[in-house]
Amino acid sequence: MDMDDKKQWRGKAILHVDINSFYSSCEEIKDPSLKGKPHAVIMTPQDNNSITKGAVTTCSYEAKKLGIKSAMPLYKALELCPNLILHSVDKKFYEKISNEVMKILEDYADIFEQASIDEAYLDCTIKMSNINITVEEYAQEIKKSIKEKCGGLLTSIGIAPTKSVAKIASDYQKPDGLTIVHFNALKDFLSRLDVETISGIGIKTQKILKEQMNIKTIGQLSNTDVQLLIERFGKKIGTWMWQVANGLDNEPVLPRGNHISLSNESTLEFVTEDKEIIKQALYELIDELYERIKNNKYQFRTVGIKLMRTDFSIETREKSYIKYQSEKKSIEYIIEEILGKFNLEDNNLIVPSKKIKNTKFLPIRKVGLKVSNLTAIEKSSKDNEYKQKTLLDYC
Ligand SMILES: [Mg+2]
Repeated sequence: MDMDDKKQWRGKAILHVDINSFYSSCEEIKDPSLKGKPHAVIMTPQDNNSITKGAVTTCSYEAKKLGIKSAMPLYKALELCPNLILHSVDKKFYEKISNEVMKILEDYADIFEQASIDEAYLDCTIKMSNINITVEEYAQEIKKSIKEKCGGLLTSIGIAPTKSVAKIASDYQKPDGLTIVHFNALKDFLSRLDVETISGIGIKTQKILKEQMNIKTIGQLSNTDVQLLIERFGKKIGTWMWQVANGLDNEPVLPRGNHISLSNESTLEFVTEDKEIIKQALYELIDELYERIKNNKYQFRTVGIKLMRTDFSIETREKSYIKYQSEKKSIEYIIEEILGKFNLEDNNLIVPSKKIKNTKFLPIRKVGLKVSNLTAIEKSSKDNEYKQKTLLDYC
């Protein structure tokens, strides 16, 4: 592992973000008195006050220290810790928290891929090359932002030029970890790790590698003749595992399913705290953003503004319409109102309160505009339009 971050980043900058002990951390958000205590979320049909059977899905770090693990049967967990506090799974609440986290993460990525309820990949290659901070500072900012805005949630982040290594790196230090693997350090970082650390190598494959082929570390896997792996596991899987072991896999970060949002952003020519200049910069983003809304045949309900201050902290505010909107002016009209929710210098405003006047806000260096709560303009209406047109053509 190479911690020398002053070095320029080479290759793609892919971040894998994993929320630590997600379900249990959500329970701590719901009930902060749980903090520091051993507690676990149990997969069970029973409700909170009467849990007698089931298995552990996630547990707090205090419970982990006592040997409690995911998938452990409840009776065994209670043997290890008789006063373990139990909760049944509250998927709805976890999803709500997950959405909040994902929305924040999305703002930091060029391309965003949610991998599960508590994991996401961020391709930040373009963003990283446009701002003059190190990947470490960037990741720390993300960690801080989630911790502050989402009830103290801790994350582990891995950064690497490939997705597979970013994922391994986020797993390397937990909780609250940050592991950076530079291009030149890829092979070195991987070489000593167990083959099982590769996400996608299951128990069966692991057994074959270790027991039949005597391949225990990723280093050994990388030095194995790829033909041998292909013979054993087939072309697709054999090639894949050899590439991963050599840090050569090239899987792109891909947004899954529908867009959560569409956005456009720009760096200001000079930093400023002047609301009018910021507003103007936001207006300039509308056309391109609206083009993309139209091309994707979306309607939107929410418009959001993102401002990055000179310390790289990111603030977001948004406003939602009651009904879906499809016109450009629905973005234009609402910008001023949303901007009013930020702490900015307003030169057109005579501020009577001394307290406000004395507040010094950090200037803005970057602005972003986003629409979310998207829905596709109904296909059926499009089909009707098409039918009508054909009929007319015939007439
Ligand atoms: Mg997790």
